[in-house]
Amino acid sequence: MPRTVAVVGAGAAGLVVARELLREGLDVAVFEKSARTGGTWAYDPRADADPLGRDPAAPGAVHGSLYASLRTNLPRELMGFSDFPMAGRVFAGDPRAFPGHREVLAFLDAFAEESGVLERVRLRSEVLRVAPLGGQGERWAVAWRGEDGEVAEDVFDAVVVCNGHWTVPQVAKIRGIDNWKGKQMHSHNYRVPDPFRDQVLLLCLLESILAVMKISSIPVCHALSAECCCCRNGSQWNGHSSRDLTCGKGSAHCVEVLGGQAWKSRAPQRYLDAQRDCIQDDGKIHFSEGSAVAADIILYCTGYYYHFPFLDLDGLTVDDNRVGPLYKHIFPPKYAPNLSFVGLPMKTIVFQSVELESKWVAAVLSGRATLPSEEDMMAAVRDHYLQMEEEGRPKRHTHVIMPKWEEHMNWLADQVGEPRLEAWRLEMLEKAIRCAWSLDAGYRDRWEQEDNSGKSALKHPLGSK
Ligand code: FAD
Repeated sequence: MPRTVAVVGAGAAGLVVARELLREGLDVAVFEKSARTGGTWAYDPRADADPLGRDPAAPGAVHGSLYASLRTNLPRELMGFSDFPMAGRVFAGDPRAFPGHREVLAFLDAFAEESGVLERVRLRSEVLRVAPLGGQGERWAVAWRGEDGEVAEDVFDAVVVCNGHWTVPQVAKIRGIDNWKGKQMHSHNYRVPDPFRDQVLLLCLLESILAVMKISSIPVCHALSAECCCCRNGSQWNGHSSRDLTCGKGSAHCVEVLGGQAWKSRAPQRYLDAQRDCIQDDGKIHFSEGSAVAADIILYCTGYYYHFPFLDLDGLTVDDNRVGPLYKHIFPPKYAPNLSFVGLPMKTIVFQSVELESKWVAAVLSGRATLPSEEDMMAAVRDHYLQMEEEGRPKRHTHVIMPKWEEHMNWLADQVGEPRLEAWRLEMLEKAIRCAWSLDAGYRDRWEQEDNSGKSALKHPLGSK
């Protein structure tokens, strides 16, 4: 049975993994390359030198992708851990149902402290390489660089990878991009709207990625719209679909009128779609329905890549954003149980999902739960891929749990004897997603006005227009 476990990353996932491993009596070391815990939620005002963030290994590359005004897209009830809820307590003076990022960071700080995990975290310790000792990883060598720049190596019985996946931008290849003379930026590097003042800006969304990215890209629009002449006076985004956005004061498209350049759109579609629109020799963006526009900046809201620069393992790949093979998105059959990944699933109740994943990993490592044989896990992975094919889902959506989050999370809960998800939680998640997709920036505050308890708010669904 493993005794020592290395956890890579001290974000929400790494912290809750460490708590669960400690609860199982295992000896835990959490490696965190930055100077603090909290991961994504530690807002970093810096941006990459390259606005497209193309080289994650570039000196000074920034981990976080939060912008200054970001508020959560899920209510408090869906962002806590069991025994340590976020609802009912205020951690940094922001009691809102959908708090700003500082409140979430303070929540995670309190969690790290009170759970005893903090003292297991080695800050400023970047994991450079994780390699199996023995064919299937009976033990693991972890090479890491400390604050002094020295590289050391420690050996552990098991490694849990929790390095996050909202850092390395996917940049869509727009047809004719070589003709583009303006600026380009990925939303990873968006922090504040000021640099966009008086600029004509276009958002690039990959139609196929839109479903995944919408929640994170839409708040960027909202933050920007604070600077938009059409929206500044309290009007809100009221578009009803991703490709048909209008703002409250007429038909001009918000993202194209930033700072007052009231460019009236006759065409209903003003989103640049990398797959259908193109940039022609005149440097303008030509939309598929025939109109064209000159713009200053293309802002790519086109998602992120899974990236594990410290792993080079036989038989484990990232192919078109499919990390595989992984049994239930967690265990690579060849190296299970001593190598695992927590936090890969997307479009789910992230905090609750990482907690259930962590409980399962900890239970397996302590011997309280057992995994199927390598062959059976591989068969399950193949079944999953086959099912995706039959449903017409692209490979890059492998870890997108929606719409099967209930099935997935209940499956995890069953493995560790935890109660299944309460119906209200799932309903609340669906409602929050509906609200976010409605592009109505005011939903967060109205949610509070209507009902703070969450549960009964479901009787009066918002975003039902
Ligand atoms: P991260 O928080 O990214 O943490 C990974 C940690 O690993 C980091 O601290 C990093 O420094 C460290 N690390 C990486 N590589 C190494 C290495 N080689 N060695 C050592 N340490 C390393 N979720 C919600 O539930 N609600 C929301 O409202 C919400 N909004 C979001 C908005 C945006 C813009 C983004 C980008 C994400 C949002 N999320 C939201 C998802 C969010 O990512 C999760 O809530 C959660 O923070 C993921 O935690 P994690 O630990 O998996 O990853």
